[in-house]
Amino acid sequence: MLKVDVIVIGAGAAGLFCAAEAGKRGRSVLVLDHAKRIGGKILMSGGGRCNFTNMYASPENYLSANPHFCKSALSRYNQWDFIALVTQYGIAYHEKTLGQLFCDDSAKDILKLLLSECDKAGVQVRHPVEVQNIDKTAEGFELETSQGQFGCDSLVVATGGLSIPKLGASPFGYKIAEQFGLKVLPTRAGLVPFTLHEQDKAALAELSGISLDATAVCNHTSFRENILFTHRGLSGPSVLQISNYWHPGETVTFNLSPGQNLTEFLQTEQQAHPDALLSTTLAKLFPKRFVQVALEYFALTNKPMKQYQGKQLEQVADAFMQWQLKPNGTEGYRTAEVTLGGVDTNELSSKTMEARKVPGLYFIGEVMDVTGWLGGYNFQWAWSSGWVAGQVV
Ligand code: FAD
Repeated sequence: MLKVDVIVIGAGAAGLFCAAEAGKRGRSVLVLDHAKRIGGKILMSGGGRCNFTNMYASPENYLSANPHFCKSALSRYNQWDFIALVTQYGIAYHEKTLGQLFCDDSAKDILKLLLSECDKAGVQVRHPVEVQNIDKTAEGFELETSQGQFGCDSLVVATGGLSIPKLGASPFGYKIAEQFGLKVLPTRAGLVPFTLHEQDKAALAELSGISLDATAVCNHTSFRENILFTHRGLSGPSVLQISNYWHPGETVTFNLSPGQNLTEFLQTEQQAHPDALLSTTLAKLFPKRFVQVALEYFALTNKPMKQYQGKQLEQVADAFMQWQLKPNGTEGYRTAEVTLGGVDTNELSSKTMEARKVPGLYFIGEVMDVTGWLGGYNFQWAWSSGWVAGQVV
């Protein structure tokens, strides 16, 4: 049996980062992953450019049953620490929008950084390896795997969430938690497009490809970014963000004119161009194709502006500014960027990520119930949680 100080299960963002940190402290570290190719999610992230952190990352950007849990790790290893590492590696990056930092060239640069950090710290990364059984012994942990038996003092679970099964996602981390008597909170797909009920889908199908600036509101939370109509439903950053806060059966309210008061705009236009059709007037703000479909969808008659009473103009504005949509569901884990829920943070130390009931067992990254917004926050959680565990395992 090969015995090392630390075994990390999962060679993703959190696992590799934690392994490198532990290795730097002189610990012997072995990383095991069942995937043929590792780093798949990193390579796919940010459209191939990896949105590796966010300049404004703070605890408010994370969802968890215990919103305080993430504070300590995020402050001990923050976005500026990771940005310094990226800079040290000479990786060029830029802010795309809202503090989101992307590689100029390729997400490969971030994977190379992680593998190089592991290499320098003497970390062994083995894959594909199936972990078949885990036992706790007096000395630590023993693992049965497809490559034989391994033993360790500290076991770090960094198996991520359930999103994108074809990239190696599995519920293994939750099973390990349950095996050791730790509570796992229900999981659901997050940062995911909405699917629509048949009636909405049919009515909006023609809009596929149209993107609009919009505010999405659900459960007292709102995001203003773009929404994108697709042939399956609704996507775009505003929709992905609000999907984290949405539960089946709930309604999402969209303001399709977040930049200006539509009532005032319509009143001004009515004065200036009384003979113009409502559709012509609205086409000053929205794509023509959208206006045509929207008037029908919202059951609004298209008349010259002078024929609308004040109240009617308000109704038109309300239709666009308070569009109430009840999604049919989401596209699920097949396309979700993250998994909400997971290992209950109340079971873990916020300083070290160690399970309170099981000394030597750690959970880091997305496997636990900490989920970030869209925009680099999820990788920052992988770095922060991986780093703090890496200092103590
Ligand atoms: P992962 O990176 O998912 O790594 C988990 C590892 O565990 C994988 O290598 C997997 O193969 C391995 N594993 C799973 N089960 C087992 C098992 N049974 N045995 C052995 N190994 C196992 N976040 C951002 O911040 N910015 C972005 O730009 C961004 N873009 C994204 C784009 C897409 C398409 C997706 C799906 C996600 C994106 N995310 C992004 C989210 C981000 O990728 C994750 O939050 C982050 O990778 C989580 O890190 P992790 O190490 O916890 O898990």
